[in-house]
Amino acid sequence: MLSILPIVSSSSHSHPVGDDESIFHHSHSSGTQPFLLAQASPTERRDDPNIQSIAASFHAFHPLVQTRADNNFLYVESNSMPEHPMMVGITAWQQQVPLPQPYTGDNAWRIPLAPKPAANPLSAKSNFFRGAIALAANGVPIFNPIKNDGKTDTFLAGELDEYGGHSGRADDYHYHIAPLHLQETLGKSLPVAYALDGYPIYGLEEPDGSKVEKLDAFNGHIGPDGDYHYHATKTYPYLNGGFHGEVENRDGQVHPQPRAKGVRPYTRPLRRAKIIAWEEPNEQSYSIEYTLNRKSHFVNYTLLDNGSVRFDFVDAQGNTTTETYDGKSVRGGGSREERNNGRNRDRQDRRPRDELERQRADSSDRGPRGPDPNDPNRKPWIEAHAAEVDADKDGEVSRPELIAEIAKTLQTMDTNSDKSISKEEAQARGNRLPMAGFVKGHFDELDKNSDTKISSKELSDSFLRMYDRQGQKKRK
Ligand SMILES: [Zn+2]
Ligand SMILES: [Zn+2]
Repeated sequence: MLSILPIVSSSSHSHPVGDDESIFHHSHSSGTQPFLLAQASPTERRDDPNIQSIAASFHAFHPLVQTRADNNFLYVESNSMPEHPMMVGITAWQQQVPLPQPYTGDNAWRIPLAPKPAANPLSAKSNFFRGAIALAANGVPIFNPIKNDGKTDTFLAGELDEYGGHSGRADDYHYHIAPLHLQETLGKSLPVAYALDGYPIYGLEEPDGSKVEKLDAFNGHIGPDGDYHYHATKTYPYLNGGFHGEVENRDGQVHPQPRAKGVRPYTRPLRRAKIIAWEEPNEQSYSIEYTLNRKSHFVNYTLLDNGSVRFDFVDAQGNTTTETYDGKSVRGGGSREERNNGRNRDRQDRRPRDELERQRADSSDRGPRGPDPNDPNRKPWIEAHAAEVDADKDGEVSRPELIAEIAKTLQTMDTNSDKSISKEEAQARGNRLPMAGFVKGHFDELDKNSDTKISSKELSDSFLRMYDRQGQKKRK
């Protein structure tokens, strides 16, 4: 088995994997279903050629990574500490460090053995900002390249080290892009990772070395062997940009999945710090060197036999501050009050976020930070464009001014002079009329009789109704 640090598991800092940059701190400890382990007949399952093939990538990293299987899943155990240097190259650092994680037993990763195409495939542009979306062959989880604010590309933001990883809030190391460096061990014929829907993720070429043909929106396609798979790319989405296969989306992440465990309170961003070196001076002992104002600082930390972690923070003058965390009480770090605040907020925020996630799930592929139709700050069209429509600049939009604007819009957008606006005409670029954007964005609503044309009457009815409704509130 793995030589894993027995991090105190009764920790009050129990994080779901993926809590990393989240402003929400969930601690729903009941979230993990008990796994059905295949202890009855592990050996016969191991001989199954399908399992063999799926496990091949993970086997390449044995004994760092261990696998077992039942009828439905390949279970992958690891401590998420890869063999390569970590953290070097990060220029946007939250002061977290990599600590071994207990991804074992019923907290192991699981890969479906028989992935099924989803009836409604979910995009990672609008879902799964929390938690892992894939598992690298070396047992390191891979999170959405977009972090949980829904818009920041972690790679472009300088948050990732030279291997595409960093540590989350529980000091849990994970990647955010496809780990192509694993091909040094795996070659090109094996997947570098598996998406959590069970489909493999290959590198920049097909497993046989041939060029990758057209990919779908999720970076996937039916490969030369007739099976669906994903590919890594050097630009967004970098890996599976969603799930072609079935997964359960619960609370904004793939469910179930293992939980990371932290030993200390969250740390804060350290602006202008740049991590320049990683060392492992002794077994269970690590050193991160970073520069701040051109001077070197170090975070040296050691995993102690009792499960605690000792941190030595060395400043530019060589002064050392030592803090030890056992995961139960906090010494020298953030205050208890701060932790409690975080947990209280979690409880309050749970419900709105669930609703937000549901909205996101409903809008299939809106992309990060799409316009929110329920945004209370959104002004009615008439108000937003009043200055442009107010021809005589008296500070009010009159009915005749609006009617004139409708006529002008129709005349300008109706390029084939059939007294209506077709979808093509609505989508034509290059006119800056105040109504053009609305017509383009609300074509189907304006086209009341659904004849794929907006007639003069349909256009004026809608805008005048909007005008009159506004007027009931404030206009004369
Ligand atoms: Zn992260
Ligand atoms: Zn392919």
